[in-house]
Amino acid sequence: VRQQQLRPDDPPPHWVKNHFLTTLPPNELERLLPELERVAFRSRQIVFGAGDPARYVYFPQEALISLLAAMDDGRSAEVSLTGKEGIVGIAEILGVATHRYTAAVVVPGSCLRMRMEKFNAEFARSAGLQFRVLNYFRYLLVQVSQTAACNRLHRVRQRLARQLLMIRDRVQRDEFQMTHESFAVALGTPRSEVSFAAEVLRRSGVIDYRHGQVIILRREKLESAACECYGVIHREFLSLVEANPQDLYGAPA
Ligand SMILES: [Zn+2]
Repeated sequence: VRQQQLRPDDPPPHWVKNHFLTTLPPNELERLLPELERVAFRSRQIVFGAGDPARYVYFPQEALISLLAAMDDGRSAEVSLTGKEGIVGIAEILGVATHRYTAAVVVPGSCLRMRMEKFNAEFARSAGLQFRVLNYFRYLLVQVSQTAACNRLHRVRQRLARQLLMIRDRVQRDEFQMTHESFAVALGTPRSEVSFAAEVLRRSGVIDYRHGQVIILRREKLESAACECYGVIHREFLSLVEANPQDLYGAPA
């Protein structure tokens, strides 16, 4: 990736689609550009596993990445879901040597990645980046906490509807590649229960699915089928993507 000179009013380069990056102050984004490397991911590919050395932070572009907590008995459940609004591997910044959770690809596509030590060095000197990271942690804390409560308290059909809406908001499409198996892993629920819940939604005309593709047909009905957790997470998501650090820090010198 070539270095580019950005003036304060210049738009970010077209190959940078990650919203976290595109909303950084231009002078700070410019310093990150030469360090960014594009990586393509297949569906269900493992980006990094729990216990792996934390070498990179990832900025999803079209890809959607799920952070999974795996238990000793082989079961797992999703901790967070990240698309182009965010960063994956961010919990490991500031000197943590290994990843705590496994990152798996939910929707295939590309990410930009950057070496952890480069990111840490930029973090130490960039006010805009610090604001964005703290704001992102605030959002992530709500998502993770609400997901923990949801997994314990709400029914499979409600959680499946929440999950579908969260994916839709992040990939900004009503149709995406996703199997019942992937939903079962994300929801920490046996596949048979996920298939039953999906079938109920399909029969009532809310969604359809074929050949590994899920199609959302009626978004409002899907929102009614989801638990309140979707609304809580969605409000934080909107406040995250609408936040602009340049409003707080002014135009860079
Ligand atoms: Zn819930």
